Amino acid sequence: MKYVDEFRDGDRARGLAAALRQEAQPGRHYRLMEFCGGHTHAVFRYGIPDLLPDNIELVHGPGCPVCVLPTGRLDMAMRLVLDHPEVILASYGDMLRVPGSEHRSLLQARADGADVRMVYSISDALELARANPQRQVVFFGIGFETTTPPTALGILEARRSAVDNFSVFCNHVLTPAAMQAILDVDPASEESVEIDGFIGPSHVSVIIGSDSYAFCAGQYHKPVVIAGFEPLDVLQSILMLVRQLNEGRAEIENQYTRAVTSQGNARAQQVVREVFTLRPTFEWRGLGQIPTSALAISDDYATFDAEKRFAMRYVPAAGTKGCECPAVLRGAKKPIDCKLFATACSPESPLGSCMVSDEGACAAYFTYGRFREDALQRQSQQRAVVKARRQA
Ligand code: SF4
Repeated sequence: MKYVDEFRDGDRARGLAAALRQEAQPGRHYRLMEFCGGHTHAVFRYGIPDLLPDNIELVHGPGCPVCVLPTGRLDMAMRLVLDHPEVILASYGDMLRVPGSEHRSLLQARADGADVRMVYSISDALELARANPQRQVVFFGIGFETTTPPTALGILEARRSAVDNFSVFCNHVLTPAAMQAILDVDPASEESVEIDGFIGPSHVSVIIGSDSYAFCAGQYHKPVVIAGFEPLDVLQSILMLVRQLNEGRAEIENQYTRAVTSQGNARAQQVVREVFTLRPTFEWRGLGQIPTSALAISDDYATFDAEKRFAMRYVPAAGTKGCECPAVLRGAKKPIDCKLFATACSPESPLGSCMVSDEGACAAYFTYGRFREDALQRQSQQRAVVKARRQA
């Protein structure tokens, strides 16, 4: 554990916090988006907001694959498994708990008789297909660039070993396209969120490389610092961003040099190119339709494409009424701005995707408990007001 301990050293953290207090210019407000939900959880797990001066604000981004999948795509999975009794739907655990519009969740669909299984990887799904040759096994593929190469390898393995009863419902999405969509919002629009710079995702960057964000600096003059997940990584990355902003620089810097290179993992990129193709457009929860922001299975591997095999059709659908996930994912609202937070919505009973996943912002706020008391107090005040009105 020596390696991890070094990145959690309290004295060094206090040193970085002191540097931030010294270097953050009074009268200036720094709004920094941590794109990745893993960073959001690291920020709250380690109490980083308490170490920052008041004029450095962290804005939570859409980098949670479970969270950004729109309700309509989840409905497609539910219709598939409910309408086709021959199908076993193999999914990561988090996806099972996200509410869809037609059923409460895939778990509820399972209670209604659908054959939904939780898996830890596409390899588990392939094993399911081999063990059930009379059934059709569909892997519910989600994720950013980090999880796309394993899905590609799973499809290649299915072809190599002639597993014909296996296919993938592909929902893999692309980080740079989402960052660009955030930066492209018209500043005059209500949807606009002012961002001064990005704490860049780390695992994604291991695959795609730091050069992939060059457009942020070149086209939009926004700095990006790719950050590791340990508390000192995050603090140092914030300091690097503050220094860039103070000096009027907009560059792509890499704090996470122990894992990320400028070009990324060429072998992983090659298998992704082999198996997938760009979708012309894809809907993201909170960000709407974004051009060329997601992948589909290429024609060469169409036999493994569940959307083609089962003629699945996308129908846009609304999320839970009152759920602020879309605004939370854009960085326009914080989880505690949602009236349902820690009242009707909790990790045990999630009403929106951001409360489900280990990378969701609402789950981070709830899990680390720092705002739950506020929310519960507000709920109790609202109840008292309603009660007083009834009695009046
Ligand atoms: Fe949605 Fe629940 Fe978060 Fe509100 S607290 S935005 S309902 S996930």
